[in-house]
Amino acid sequence: MTAPDLHLSGVVLPEGEHRELWVSGGRITHQPVPGAETVSRGGFLLPGLVDAHCHVGLGRGGAHAADVGELRAQALVERDAGVLALRDCGSPVDTRELDDHLDLPRIIRAGRHLAAPRRYIPDLAIELPPADLVAEVRVQARRGDGWVKLVGDWIDRDHGDLAPEWPAEVLAAAIAAAHEEGARVTAHTFGTDALPGLIAAGIDCIEHGTGLTEELVGELARRGTAVVPTLVNVENFPGFAAAGERRFPAYASTMRRLYANSGAVVRAAYDAGVPVFAGTDAGGGIEHGVIVDEIRALHAAGLPAEAALAAGSWAAREWLGLPGIAEGAPADLVVYATDPRSDLDSLQRPQRTVLRGVVVG
Ligand SMILES: [Zn+2]
Repeated sequence: MTAPDLHLSGVVLPEGEHRELWVSGGRITHQPVPGAETVSRGGFLLPGLVDAHCHVGLGRGGAHAADVGELRAQALVERDAGVLALRDCGSPVDTRELDDHLDLPRIIRAGRHLAAPRRYIPDLAIELPPADLVAEVRVQARRGDGWVKLVGDWIDRDHGDLAPEWPAEVLAAAIAAAHEEGARVTAHTFGTDALPGLIAAGIDCIEHGTGLTEELVGELARRGTAVVPTLVNVENFPGFAAAGERRFPAYASTMRRLYANSGAVVRAAYDAGVPVFAGTDAGGGIEHGVIVDEIRALHAAGLPAEAALAAGSWAAREWLGLPGIAEGAPADLVVYATDPRSDLDSLQRPQRTVLRGVVVG
């Protein structure tokens, strides 16, 4: 069954020009398609939102999805929030069969998290010694959709505080191996100490990045390395600190300091020209479907509203190799009543959602 041809008109973002669009065979065209059904008139047409750090397969608290119904439910919550593509930043659950569900957001996978033994959330990562990292990075690079996810730092219980997981020379070899396989690499980091080794090794993106210093931000900007701050998840830091306070007071104080600086770090990265993208970390300590909260948090941290919107839409799409609203592009777009560039609240109320050329909301 082929989807009906569609017609929409409105202000197309980010250009901001009023246009007529048609959708035929799942793709956008500016050529009128006779007989197309008009599904939206007026409003603002935004390239589908992106959650650049998401874990389909994990529910609240990191619970593994039990079946495809639960995977679908998580992905549908994202879609209803306007997320039409997500970068899965590591999942222990095989979600590949969702690729056949054409009503669900596109998923760009990073394979499994790779962590040092007992240095991450239990039952989530593949845990392996540094000597095995390069080989496993190659495996995950081939399994994923162009990304590999490392856990860069975590609490070291012997040390009582955050600490790097991998020696610098291992990181250099692992990231070079991923690049040879055609994959980009990203790493979870909360603290500062893991960052110089990751950045020097040529990492492509930093997740959370709360430990970034002014000097490191300058280095990211120089290299074009991206940051996905996951500010809605950073809101959990005081809770992590409280939970660790008794056994790990140094860790608790580190987490409180990182939390206190988190907005300033994001602002400094943006001001320095570091590419900043919106990701929620949904499926960790975060519910699915909160991308709009993250876009608002980036704005609250100091990104102009339009830059915060770009971080969750067209700029993130371009970074992930997904087109915007353009001739011949797959029709993945969301319509809002008011201009989300100046009114981020508009994002809470999608008027129309078109995914792969089909009206899904
Ligand atoms: Zn995550």
